[in-house]
Amino acid sequence: MNKVKNTSISYRKIIAISVVFILILGISVIAGNVKFNNVKIKFSNNHEITVLTSKTKVSEILEENHIMLSSDETVIPSTDEEITDTNTIVITKEGNEPTKIAQISEEELDNDIEEIAENYSNITEEIITVEEEIPFETITKDVSNGKDTTNRVIQDGKNGIKEVTYKVKYKDDVEIERIELSSKVIEKPINKIVQIQTKVTSRSSSRRSGVTTASSGRYKVTAYCSCSRCCGKTNGLTASGRRATANHTVAAPSTFAFGTQLVINGKTYTVEDRGGAIQGNRIDIYMNSHSQALAWGVRYLDVEVVN
Ligand SMILES: [Zn+2]
Repeated sequence: MNKVKNTSISYRKIIAISVVFILILGISVIAGNVKFNNVKIKFSNNHEITVLTSKTKVSEILEENHIMLSSDETVIPSTDEEITDTNTIVITKEGNEPTKIAQISEEELDNDIEEIAENYSNITEEIITVEEEIPFETITKDVSNGKDTTNRVIQDGKNGIKEVTYKVKYKDDVEIERIELSSKVIEKPINKIVQIQTKVTSRSSSRRSGVTTASSGRYKVTAYCSCSRCCGKTNGLTASGRRATANHTVAAPSTFAFGTQLVINGKTYTVEDRGGAIQGNRIDIYMNSHSQALAWGVRYLDVEVVN
């Protein structure tokens, strides 16, 4: 009985040792000083094989098993590295990666940082100075009595000019921001002035014959004397019948009544004479001598009507 019992124990021992031996064989075979490893090779089409090899360098294991990598395939660990404790070689095709490995993620992260840096480098700044128009304003003055009005432009408007300095930001040569730094007025705008006035009445339109009114304004002022060259006569009598007097008598168009006082260059004269050429905006000043009249010549002066 004891013998039988002992036998069954020894069998069990043999089986146990065998199992342990098979397990060891499955992982590695030790033959002399050479160590063999089971290495799993995973192909890019997800096919797997397990090879028994004494090599540890990836390139040598692949070569030993006649595995050639195509140009778009990569291998982890890389061909010049030793296999790791996982005893696995993974072949992947570009753009068709079945699994993401930490190493690749890091590379991608680097790429992302490079991309971000590149985006920043596409932003450029520039300081520019440009001329811009300053629009004029329109000012309206109402001088009418409130009804039957018409608008009259007293002064035309004109845009001004300013010089503006901006900081302009571009991204890929496209403007994305513009900040005004300074502004300088080169030319001020001129306001347009519009006067609202009562329409011209029919009474004043009756003056449309072209006869000027006896009003103050700019006149062509000449001079004359009593000589025949100036008057065609030498008696010195004026059209009003009065004797012409220097520094006093002027000839003026018939729109100026005789006796009208005019101020020219601060001196007051009286309208006492007429003249064939003295029409429109013309005044002729009587002087004592022909040389004085010649010396006066032709002048354009402001003439003010007194009263
Ligand atoms: Zn004369």
